[in-house]
Amino acid sequence: MIGGGVVGLSATAALLRRGADVRCYEAGEPMGERSAGDTRIFRLAHTFPDMVELAGRSRALFADWSGRSGTPLIDEVGTVVSGPEVANWAAAMATAGAAHEMVEPGSPLLRLPAATFAGPALIDPAGGVIRVDRIRAFLVAAVADRLRAAHVDAVEEIASGVRIHAGRDVDVFDAALICAGAGTPALAAGVGIEAPAALEHHLRVSFPIRPGAPEPLQCWITGDTYQHLAAPGTWAVGADVDPALVSWAGGRPAAERASREVLIAYATEHLPFVEPRPVAEVYCTHDPALGDGLQFARNGRVLATYGENLMKFAPLLGDLLAQSCLDGSTPADAGPNAARGAS
Ligand SMILES: Cc1cc2nc3c(=O)[nH]c(=O)nc-3n(C[C@H](O)[C@H](O)[C@H](O)COP(=O)(O)OP(=O)(O)OC[C@H]3O[C@@H](n4cnc5c(N)ncnc54)[C@H](O)[C@@H]3O)c2cc1C
Repeated sequence: MIGGGVVGLSATAALLRRGADVRCYEAGEPMGERSAGDTRIFRLAHTFPDMVELAGRSRALFADWSGRSGTPLIDEVGTVVSGPEVANWAAAMATAGAAHEMVEPGSPLLRLPAATFAGPALIDPAGGVIRVDRIRAFLVAAVADRLRAAHVDAVEEIASGVRIHAGRDVDVFDAALICAGAGTPALAAGVGIEAPAALEHHLRVSFPIRPGAPEPLQCWITGDTYQHLAAPGTWAVGADVDPALVSWAGGRPAAERASREVLIAYATEHLPFVEPRPVAEVYCTHDPALGDGLQFARNGRVLATYGENLMKFAPLLGDLLAQSCLDGSTPADAGPNAARGAS
């Protein structure tokens, strides 16, 4: 296992549950890169029915994780989707048979930090706040001493297995899974697997919630933002920012500055129940070419996976990847890229 983000830790834990002997190489802090921070949005709502169905399976597995960790890993506040594409989200939910409701702004069923916005809105009652802080504690305990603090320099398939090169150490395994987030394309290329390598900077900013806001606030996805409860009393907001402002070439400091300005302006103009004063931030890299979707690629004994918004699929991905590591199969792609026929 190369990568101790939420995907790698989940797959390691799933392999251990199946009795496998597994090692998870992590170059930095477990869940310290794209899996950093304390919260994310869970939703069944997607624009593709197969993703809705997979999210439902993941939701059931989150319930199992919650039972085993002894604490809820999703706060069930619901998720609201609004914006120009909401009819497509509703159609996918309907096709998948997932419970949802369409309402207009001002509906008593809405608990958002703004009362006025372009409607209608879809309520996904199974959505909520993913407690990343609790998941990190649960998974790190589950993988225990199987986690190895080391940067993997190369993965190499040989006749008897797969060699993992980490500094001066070379270890041989029956199979390898590359789930290294932004590090996946470079490692995968070494074994002939092509994974998209484009990168953009992304910043999510948290603001204090003003007294009098509805409680508990629902998670909210608008046409160009995502928003949810973060640390107690704070509201996290991320947005699609002009690509020219967050390009990889432009550098992280400039991208963070520009994103912060965009988010403060947005909160000032659109979120009356939020004080537009940043109190916390989460930075990450992401691939602007990928949307919601699960992608898998195999060459021989090496499997690689990549995608965006993977936190909500963490337990499902762990199970799918563990099974594929053991039987040599490749899970089916899902979501927009799969529908286009790409992988
Ligand atoms: C601000 C923000 C908001 C988000 N919102 C949502 C949301 O609302 N809902 C949702 O479902 N998802 C959301 N996501 C996305 C989700 O968090 C990520 O898709 C998911 O955490 C990715 O996990 P991962 O394990 O694939 O990658 P990562 O967490 O990046 O893990 C990869 C790991 O591999 C390690 N690594 C890389 N190269 C090497 C190497 N050569 N050797 C050893 N280790 C290596 C890295 O150190 C890293 O820890 C959000 C992400 C961010 C940052």
